Amino acid sequence: MEKTKTLTILEGNKICIGDLFSLPMTYYSLRNLTKSYEDHHAVQDFSLDLGKGEFVAVIGESGSGKSTLLRMAAGLLAQTSGEVYLGDKKIASPEEKLVAGHDEIKLIHQDYQLFATISVEENISRPLLRYDAGYRNKRVSHLLDRLGLEAYRERLPRQLSGGQQQKVAIAQALAVEPEVLLLDEPFSHLDAIQKRKLIFELKDLLKEMGTTVIFVTHDLDDALWMTDSLVVLQKGKITQKGNSKALCEFPKSKYVARLFSSINLIPDLPGCYLRPADIRLRSRGGLVGHVIDQRFLVHYNSLQVRLRESGQVWEVDDPARKHKLGDRVYLHYDEEKVLVLKS
Ligand code: ADP
Ligand code: MG
Repeated sequence: MEKTKTLTILEGNKICIGDLFSLPMTYYSLRNLTKSYEDHHAVQDFSLDLGKGEFVAVIGESGSGKSTLLRMAAGLLAQTSGEVYLGDKKIASPEEKLVAGHDEIKLIHQDYQLFATISVEENISRPLLRYDAGYRNKRVSHLLDRLGLEAYRERLPRQLSGGQQQKVAIAQALAVEPEVLLLDEPFSHLDAIQKRKLIFELKDLLKEMGTTVIFVTHDLDDALWMTDSLVVLQKGKITQKGNSKALCEFPKSKYVARLFSSINLIPDLPGCYLRPADIRLRSRGGLVGHVIDQRFLVHYNSLQVRLRESGQVWEVDDPARKHKLGDRVYLHYDEEKVLVLKS
């Protein structure tokens, strides 16, 4: 069970006692982290509190500051300002410490580096050299088993697929049972099926170990296979936090809205948008347009429709796969589906 705390808040002159079992105690805390370079901030005033065993995904486009954030969170890059705490302990930055990094916090990134000349098994046991042989062997066998690497224990890294190598890198990071695992787009070399399988396996293992996880990615879909607690990062700043339903239904900006799907601007209604899935194709009324492109996708057809009045091109989902190139279509939508986005 998650650790919780009793919360006493002074609200005006009232004292409220928080629910004993609803507030996870902050365990890992990133406080006002900022990294500034000469002419820009890579990360600006980023704060996030996680309970023990909590999973959070940080999503942002390339260049939004994800890797910079995680390197500071791991104590591998000196922040310009702000602090990182694990429990009561302040995590020292590389400027404050002789050897950068901490055993309790492990970072895994895209370009994992395994020792090329030693076996899978030796790669995983390398971080455990200080431990006794009995424990070391037990731990390595457990990780090989849990990550489905048993059959490859004798192989060299180059004799493995990209996905298998990434698993070995993950097993290596988990060997010392870190309290926190930071994942920097570690699945980008894998195909969609491998990725999903690895995320499921890893999630189970991390839950079992009680590991606290921050997973950064530019791909919302990947994030959602891991967790529904989302933080959106744009130009180094948090722009919105919440679960997928809240962010999808109430995005605060076009940037957040577009993480879920493309959006179509409604003619003559500045700042008002519709998602392709929220537009209905009818046989009369509504906005008139012509299908100028049609693509067969896995779950529906995607249409490009040129609107007759405004000349705008909309993306529209056709789940019934009814409409063809050149068809005249009549587009309808419900008012409550309109997204009002100022920025
Ligand atoms: P992401 O991982 O989201 O792609 P990064 O954290 O790598 O983003 O980079 C965030 C921003 O900081 C980018 O604009 C990048 O060019 C800049 N940046 C990263 N490292 C440095 C550096 N050492 N010097 C100057 N700018 C940097
Ligand atoms: Mg990056």
